[in-house]
Amino acid sequence: MADPRSIPVQVLVRCRGLLANEKSEKPPLAVIVPDVRGREVYIRPTQHPSSFEQVFGPSSRQEDVFQVVCPLIQDVLLGYSCTVIAYGQTGTGKTYTMQGALPEDLQSSASSPKDSRDFGIAPRSLQHLFDILEANGLEYSVIMSQIEIYNEELKDLLSSDTEKRLKIYDDAATKSRSGVSIQNCEEIVLQNAAHGIALLSTGAARRKEAATNLNDASSRSHCIITLTVHTKETTSEGEDLLKIGRLMLVDMAGSEDINRSTSDPKRVREAGIINQSLLTFGRVINALVERATHVPYREGKLTRLLQDSLGGRHKTCIIATISQTRANIDETINTLECATKAK
Ligand code: ADP
Ligand code: MG
Repeated sequence: MADPRSIPVQVLVRCRGLLANEKSEKPPLAVIVPDVRGREVYIRPTQHPSSFEQVFGPSSRQEDVFQVVCPLIQDVLLGYSCTVIAYGQTGTGKTYTMQGALPEDLQSSASSPKDSRDFGIAPRSLQHLFDILEANGLEYSVIMSQIEIYNEELKDLLSSDTEKRLKIYDDAATKSRSGVSIQNCEEIVLQNAAHGIALLSTGAARRKEAATNLNDASSRSHCIITLTVHTKETTSEGEDLLKIGRLMLVDMAGSEDINRSTSDPKRVREAGIINQSLLTFGRVINALVERATHVPYREGKLTRLLQDSLGGRHKTCIIATISQTRANIDETINTLECATKAK
């Protein structure tokens, strides 16, 4: 097996096509680079064309993007912690990429292959993980949690207690290898992939509800889904081999500069907190890429939670999402510049 350390951070870019209400915009932004399917090209105003190896253009399918994530599931089963992060401006497809259309949206069962076409990375990961676990005949358990970070406050998306506030605490000597745990967080043992997918829908609905109450907070919150996978294998010598791996799936707050679009003091303060959180994330990624001795994980809740999964022996995949609309060009350049730094 390749040493996961050899690729600390893998960055790919996904560009969505124009939506129905943007179709009047012709032509879409100048595009230069062939995507992974060899046909399309996407926006690349400043960077050298070879900056990104993995580029998914407007007609890329959910399935294509999942192919990049798929090997991480194997690593999780070997006991590694892996993280997939969607980063980009609001409206460019972070949630579509990470979650996609779930059964509730489709009003149909999770098991029909036709309906799972629009599944994003989270439901596909669950399906793939359980496919392997069930085929291998190992003893296993898969535990899911789903939280949201809004204004540096943690909320449990799998708890019906919407007022419950979660706390991060240091837990170095106990069960958590990262030294970081979340107090009172619901951790649900999954029966199968469909169970996990149903919980994704529950979490997504709670996130949406909170967003409606709070003036589209979903674009300003990070959502983190964690799957902790325990496996037990008995060797030919009769010894038990225990492995604990973890997959973290992160749908980040919109990367746009919200200071620019508001004068409301409450929102300016909020914008400051979110920008700070995004900046810390950027610094952590830079420190990891440069293999710096100090990585500023503790400066933000998101990076603190991801501490065990980012860096170390673990694998991180960042999906930078962009759109083709001309009005978004500044944000698109921003996203690509951040993605270039993370490489
Ligand atoms: P974000 O989470 O970044 O704010 P969304 O995932 O909500 O953005 O996407 C915004 C809109 O664009 C949604 O209606 C979504 O269905 C659509 N969309 C995003 N990416 C794609 C894509 N690759 N193909 C088709 N539609 C997409
Ligand atoms: Mg979203």
